[in-house]
Amino acid sequence: SHVITSRCAGIRDQACREVCPCECIFDAGDQFVINPDDCIDCGACVAACPADAIYPDTDLPEQHLAALAYNRDFFRR
Ligand code: SF4
Repeated sequence: SHVITSRCAGIRDQACREVCPCECIFDAGDQFVINPDDCIDCGACVAACPADAIYPDTDLPEQHLAALAYNRDFFRR
């Protein structure tokens, strides 16, 4: 799935949510997060994000690895 990193924090632009065909992007408060069970990896949100905050989980920069658990755990609460 795709993952939203902490670069979203403080920006929280709605563009990703508007383009996502699966409505799987949610507001976690400080940033948005993607539900890994529903994301179809279309990549639309990556292009839309003005903060360059979104990556495929297969290509996540090392400094953003924590975002993987952060996105996933939001939906396990
Ligand atoms: Fe939605 Fe596509 Fe982004 Fe997944 S990759 S969160 S389906 S816009």
